[in-house]
Amino acid sequence: MIPMVDLKQQYLDLKEEIDNGLLAGLEETKFILGPNVRAFEEECAEYLGVDHTVGVASGTDALHLALIAAGVEKGDEVITTPFTFIATAEAIRYVGATPVFVDIDPQSYNMDLNQVEDAITERTRAILPVHIFGQPVDMDTILSLAERHDLRVIEDCAQSFGAHIDGRQTGNFGLAGCFSFFPSKNLGGYGDGGLVSTNSAELAEHLRVLRNHGSWKQYHHSEIGFNSRLDELQAIILRAKLKRIDNYNENRRRVAHRYSAALAEIPGIKPPYEDGIGHHVYHQYTLLVENRDTIQQALRDNGIACAIYYPIPLHQQEVFFDDCQGLSLPVSERISQQCLSLPVFPELKDAQIDRILDVISKAANG
Ligand SMILES: *Cc1c(COP(=O)(O)O)cnc(C)c1O
Repeated sequence: MIPMVDLKQQYLDLKEEIDNGLLAGLEETKFILGPNVRAFEEECAEYLGVDHTVGVASGTDALHLALIAAGVEKGDEVITTPFTFIATAEAIRYVGATPVFVDIDPQSYNMDLNQVEDAITERTRAILPVHIFGQPVDMDTILSLAERHDLRVIEDCAQSFGAHIDGRQTGNFGLAGCFSFFPSKNLGGYGDGGLVSTNSAELAEHLRVLRNHGSWKQYHHSEIGFNSRLDELQAIILRAKLKRIDNYNENRRRVAHRYSAALAEIPGIKPPYEDGIGHHVYHQYTLLVENRDTIQQALRDNGIACAIYYPIPLHQQEVFFDDCQGLSLPVSERISQQCLSLPVFPELKDAQIDRILDVISKAANG
């Protein structure tokens, strides 16, 4: 059996460091906003090259709190992509704003930046690009659009920890970058967790208040906030993995490039495209194939996991029917019908990759 991700293998590789760290954390008993959360925030800020980071309870909360802190509110519109996980658009709704979906580029699967300007109205307050599957969006273009129209930019970096554009990390372009430490993400904990990055001291301060019941000083509350703190035990695990993130990501790229070299030769299959704008960290390896059912069945029959990210673009989700009546985004709709994600994780061995390729090649050639 080859899974989509092998969390067990990664744990075994780090077992001593994580076990000792967790035991020390249990002895220490500083469970809420303890020393490891603070240290992790500093180490993350240094890694990302940003002035501030604020650990929160999940990637979804990172987006939610960042939108509040950015002043996005009821009646506003936020331009984003329909080809993403639901949380991106949920967070926009949490603050009472409306997600405005623009179609995607058929090669990078990222938001088509040529279509953003047409989607801007008087109510547009922010652009929320998602670095989908770990490939950075062209942030220069986004930032100049935002500047021209006086819009905030919030980056959804849930799938792009460690991805960069010429050395500048995703999460270091917009007003805020929102990261998720869901276990299967490039940098994953052993439970939920998230983080917001920013170069604004004011925004960081507001986020610290928001994540902790609107409290700027114990039992002094300046606004209604949330209970959304990064967990101390998760921070211990994340600190151990942060040291190795570049190595993990390079190994994801190794897997991806081995797949792509072989799949490019198979008729009917389009390997994912690196647009060269940034450094892709392959949160997912997502190809396009017309006879998807056949390939999927062959993989399953051979004990190889695969997945469809994403089978229904957000503008066609029931929950957004009212917002999106009659909206047609043909590229997202076609990609949703053809996309197939293969196992990609740092520990995947060349022999396993070759087996997967062999199964796909046989299935594709009938
Ligand atoms: C995982 C993910 C999120 C949500 O993160 P959680 O930590 O699961 O709340 C948001 N956006 C994208 C693109 C994601 O992949």
